[in-house]
Amino acid sequence: MQRFQAYRYELMPTGEQQRKMRRFAGSCRFVYNKALALQKARYEQGEKKLGYAGLCKLLTEWRNSSDTAWLADAPVHPLQQALKDLERAYNNFFAKRASFPRFKRKGQSDSFRYPDPKQIKLDQANSRLFLPKLGWLRYRNSREVLGAVKNITVSQSCGKWFVSIQTEREVEPPIPQGGVVGIDMGIARFATLSDGTFYAPLNSFKRHESRLRKAQQALSRKVKFSNNWKKAKARVQRIHARISHARRDFLHKISTAISKNHAVVCVEDLQIRNMSKSAAGTTEQPGRNVRAKAGLNKSILDQGWFEFCRQLDYKLAWRGGWLVVVPPQNTSRTCPCCGHVSADNRQTQDRFACVECGFEANADLVGAINILSRGMQKLRDEGRDTLDAFSGTAQAVSPDGLWIEPHWRSEAGTHRSESGAAQCRA
Ligand SMILES: [Zn+2]
Repeated sequence: MQRFQAYRYELMPTGEQQRKMRRFAGSCRFVYNKALALQKARYEQGEKKLGYAGLCKLLTEWRNSSDTAWLADAPVHPLQQALKDLERAYNNFFAKRASFPRFKRKGQSDSFRYPDPKQIKLDQANSRLFLPKLGWLRYRNSREVLGAVKNITVSQSCGKWFVSIQTEREVEPPIPQGGVVGIDMGIARFATLSDGTFYAPLNSFKRHESRLRKAQQALSRKVKFSNNWKKAKARVQRIHARISHARRDFLHKISTAISKNHAVVCVEDLQIRNMSKSAAGTTEQPGRNVRAKAGLNKSILDQGWFEFCRQLDYKLAWRGGWLVVVPPQNTSRTCPCCGHVSADNRQTQDRFACVECGFEANADLVGAINILSRGMQKLRDEGRDTLDAFSGTAQAVSPDGLWIEPHWRSEAGTHRSESGAAQCRA
């Protein structure tokens, strides 16, 4: 089985290399924007969009023309890759996966990519790598790169430079370990597993929010582009970087722990884009509970659920497992014991009490169990014979065909829940 994996390191460039990298990133941005402007102009004149090959021909002209001769100082492959990125942006737009390509701004994801492994040399023993027109660059060698190098992306973030090394290697087909589990994602608890485990949220943004606000206010008082403005801006960027690093660390730790211990993970289809839409509404139809929803939106975006699901997906695949996405309707209102669906089942935010059979439990745990049973149903519908393979593990089938915890069944009749299995690991 082929495994594609990326490794990211911080670069330790010299001053000269930093200046060059800034110039190269700027050249790539220039080429991208120039090509986008050209495509837009062609569209307005009713002409056909130029393909990648046509754009590359133009790129050669630009590099040779006296107006933009400085483009020739940058390596040609990364410039071509910028055109390729534009092509992909257009394709994503036409396939309705993304909005129309936008012009790039300075300082906004400054990066460039070397696509040809033959031009790259990676010297891991000496913690350095060779890139065309940059020479040997030192990097913080925190772990070994496995596999053959396919391409390298250089990027800048908050004043630091990074390389992302894409690799490919042959690995043994993995054998899935562990059982099936459902996960409910929420605000009060980041993730609740159907076996009762839960992870407290990090809320890295909230913790840094007041510091960030103060730094942003200080920035707004400075004269734009002055030295003090630059210092204040760097401070804002540092806080942003802190937040994103803390969040990334948090998400990776949880997704690794879950994918190590489970073969199949069921999650809700969150449609975060819909959930995080503005609640303000329009002038004709003003939104309701605007403030409360704005708070919820901030929390949703802060949690990084989408990124979490993405990580779970590939990490499970690496270990031979897979992610099952189920429709989210009524997972928090359905009773896992009798199947009764009612909004009254959920009287408070964190408590579930069935009005039909009296079953009581933590609301997030109920959601996770419902997600699990839906995931199992979906697997059965798709004809994936996982029931036999996994029935001996963490979860068991109740007499009415719902997948619930064994310790719940042992206490059947009383329907008491939340035994000692529930614990906070975060
Ligand atoms: Zn019930």
